[in-house]
Amino acid sequence: MHTQLPSVVDGLVLCFVFVYGLVFGSFLNVVGYRLPRGESLVRPGSHCPVCQRRLRWFELVPVFSWLMLRGRCRTCSAPISLWYPLIELTTGCLFAATYLRLPLGDWPQMLAWGAFWLLLMASVATDASSMRIPDVLTLPGAVLMLIASGALRIQGWWWAFVGALVCGGGMFLIHLFARGQMGLGDVKLFLSIGAMLGAVGGLESLVLAALYGTCIGVFLRVLRRVSKREPIPFGPFIAMGAITVAVYGSEITRWYVGLVTPFG
Ligand SMILES: [Zn+2]
Repeated sequence: MHTQLPSVVDGLVLCFVFVYGLVFGSFLNVVGYRLPRGESLVRPGSHCPVCQRRLRWFELVPVFSWLMLRGRCRTCSAPISLWYPLIELTTGCLFAATYLRLPLGDWPQMLAWGAFWLLLMASVATDASSMRIPDVLTLPGAVLMLIASGALRIQGWWWAFVGALVCGGGMFLIHLFARGQMGLGDVKLFLSIGAMLGAVGGLESLVLAALYGTCIGVFLRVLRRVSKREPIPFGPFIAMGAITVAVYGSEITRWYVGLVTPFG
């Protein structure tokens, strides 16, 4: 907690930041559904994509509405994807973690990380709904993250560029060899990850993403939640990898450096 603030105020601000994250997450779900389909983000208002009924306010409360409706539309019973509450909750937690981890006065860094989370979670949302991450997210995102990482000295200008280049380049090589298994959207998303986490952090994210993807992919197929032929989007695992490194990066590095040099 932030020692400069009385604990009650700090707790209230934390709740506010968390709810703010939930609301942003809810908007990202709209982005995730409409952006790949070329629809407007504001008009028409939220409606069920199956029966077209306009949603009422109590069906639009992040996480709670999904729980209350037990994941189904009130009129036509069409299932509402589990991705909706997951994306809302994750964005809320990321916003709260950013507030807790960074010093209070450092709001430019908080904004930069907030933008990074939004980019990652928007990519998860579009990838989950349509198996693609559009350029309109990844390219402006990469420019913004490069500027933020350079100007705010998250990596500094030089290491931000090197990180984007190494991670984007590495992913492009994988894209060439993987023959359709890894989309170009994933490659472009790694420009931002490299810029914010550096070359080493970006490559750690990639290793973790592959690990998460393999474990969870096998798990979902064994449970038959996903059929053998059905492709699984890689974007959510990329985001999980990047979030793990952003939050626990130094611990991870210390752990494997310890493995490589046990007597060091
Ligand atoms: Zn419906």
